[in-house]
Amino acid sequence: MTDLNPVQQLLGELNPPQKEAVTAETKAILVFAGAGSGKTRVLTYRIAFLILSGKVAPEGILAVTFTNKAAGEMKDRVCALLGPQGEKVWVSTFHSACVRILRSHIHRLGRRADFVIYDEEDQLRLMGGLLKAAGVGIHAFPPARILKEIERAKNRGIGPQDYRPDDFNPYQKKAAEFYPLYQEALGASNALDFGDLLTFTHLLFQHVPEVQNYYWRKFRHILVDEYQDTNTIQHLLIKDLLGPDASLCVVGDDDQSIYRWRGAEPANILSFERDFPVAKVTKLEQNYRSTQLILQGANAVVCRNRWRKEKRLWTANEPGNPLTLFVAEDEEEEARWVAGCIAEEAKGEYGRYAVFYRINAQSRALEEVLMHWGIPYTLVGGVRFYQRREIKDVLAYLRVMVNPEDEVSLKRILNVPPRGIGPKTLVKLEELARQKGCSLYQAIVQAPARKDIPSAMRKKVQEVLPLLEKLRAQVLPLDELVSRIIEETNYMEYLMSMGEEGHTRLENVKEFLAVLKGSETEGVKDFLDQVALLTDIDEYEDGVNRVSLMTLHSAKGLEFPVVFMVGLEEGLLPYYLRLDNPEELEEERRLCYVGMTRVQERLHLSCAARRSLFGGEQRRIPSRFLRDIPREIICQEGASTPLLPSSWVWEEGLLAEETYYEYE
Ligand code: ATP
Ligand code: MG
Repeated sequence: MTDLNPVQQLLGELNPPQKEAVTAETKAILVFAGAGSGKTRVLTYRIAFLILSGKVAPEGILAVTFTNKAAGEMKDRVCALLGPQGEKVWVSTFHSACVRILRSHIHRLGRRADFVIYDEEDQLRLMGGLLKAAGVGIHAFPPARILKEIERAKNRGIGPQDYRPDDFNPYQKKAAEFYPLYQEALGASNALDFGDLLTFTHLLFQHVPEVQNYYWRKFRHILVDEYQDTNTIQHLLIKDLLGPDASLCVVGDDDQSIYRWRGAEPANILSFERDFPVAKVTKLEQNYRSTQLILQGANAVVCRNRWRKEKRLWTANEPGNPLTLFVAEDEEEEARWVAGCIAEEAKGEYGRYAVFYRINAQSRALEEVLMHWGIPYTLVGGVRFYQRREIKDVLAYLRVMVNPEDEVSLKRILNVPPRGIGPKTLVKLEELARQKGCSLYQAIVQAPARKDIPSAMRKKVQEVLPLLEKLRAQVLPLDELVSRIIEETNYMEYLMSMGEEGHTRLENVKEFLAVLKGSETEGVKDFLDQVALLTDIDEYEDGVNRVSLMTLHSAKGLEFPVVFMVGLEEGLLPYYLRLDNPEELEEERRLCYVGMTRVQERLHLSCAARRSLFGGEQRRIPSRFLRDIPREIICQEGASTPLLPSSWVWEEGLLAEETYYEYE
């Protein structure tokens, strides 16, 4: 069998419907299928097939995934199948594809190519400043709330001119007022926020046909993973990018749509055949990932959703072990149970294990116990490394060096470490900038010569200017540049002066330097782009032998041999804010399904009778989703406490329909 050619060999690793999707020649292909049925595999193999069979050059393919991590994995798979030419395929998230397009063409919209990307914290600072300047109370109108409305508009492709607030929604009315000002302020800082990356690319295609034509000629094949979680603007971008002769292949599962709250439109997948009339629809029904019992449990949960397309999912895998359920007294006992099981079974292979929870706050108890037991773990999400204050300070220096117009970053570092440039001086400088119609940086350059600024202030400004100019003049590799910044600003001394807290921060800065030393990125701009585009799940290093701790949302698309799903309680899963709205409740159910379908061999579920959360201790009720799992496939452990007879969950009537509504 060794004389198979590469294409035959490739196709030999697929089942008939997968093969059909991989080789389909229609203009639009939708693979609509359940979890673990090989959707991502179809995309990866299709890329390899198209190239190996000479239908398209690697440069002619664009594949879009949900996270950078997924993109990296897909790229690795493609390269493993194809060798180095796989490198030329564009595999990226929507956001990074847009950055790449904008860096080459944004000047056609009158903007500069060296823009910076503002993250959430930068956005908040900017919006906070605007509200404050306009005398709007941030208690009545929190910047985050206004930004949420703006983000929602951007997700739908609605610009400041077209924004129509609901007259009865005060936040939307405020957003209507501040959306244009916010865009202007971003422009003045030569910055784009996350939403802008997509909306500007859409604008570019709408307004500059040559650019669109260029990409139409370039991309002959576009492939999209996790299509159920695309939002309107992403859908528009796909339409923009898809030339008249190009082919589109999307894969998705309506049962795994879990980002509706962030603007995803599952309708995109359900109406695919309407948008692309000649679409070919393939269904995959064989699950290769999980044991029969795990799949049976997951199906039992999701099949209760009303708004879904019926699917049959089966597996040829073993029935496997029953699911286990542990009823703990509280979250501490739950965490000890998780750690105990892992310590007992893992035999050092920690990378096989994952723990999923609904919200980040649940990780604390788990982390404490794992740490205590010396079990190595990695935490996905939470306060992210690049979001930490000390790291953001250093990044802000880098950003100002690249783009002195970046006002949010400049303000961040002007007095960090403290150098006597307080709020009053800043107000003066901002005034000067306004008068002169120049940037804050320019105002700093001019200030020392201005007699109308008090001399003490001038002196302080005069001291910082040479530092900034000196740093800006450096031409060094990234890691040396960062070392230089830390040295010249005495940043380490500043941290050391903070006592114990400073010590942890110092360690983080050292870690940052170590990461930079080992990284392949050289250019400062590329590096800043990469950091800005990291999402929760991306800061997760697998391959290292650790237990992975993550939220259910972050788990999408991944697979693990053994999984603990903790906190299966009313109010947590389903989450208490989603209980009243039937559609949101269905999304919670899908989230539970996503968690369960990550599992290959063993699924452990747990809930606690009491839990400290949201600032107090509460009595808890097991999740309604637990009740939906057939009792025969569950084996209950624990419940040693007299409060909780082992039959509690199933027989005491505690889970009767009406009890759901007792929860506040
Ligand atoms: P999800 O819905 O979770 O994103 P998916 O549909 O994308 O899942 P994949 O991740 O592509 O599924 O595949 C699930 C697992 O099944 C992977 O480990 C994959 O390698 C394996 N697999 C898929 N198809 C086959 C096949 N034809 N033969 C053997 N293994 C397969
Ligand atoms: Mg997948």
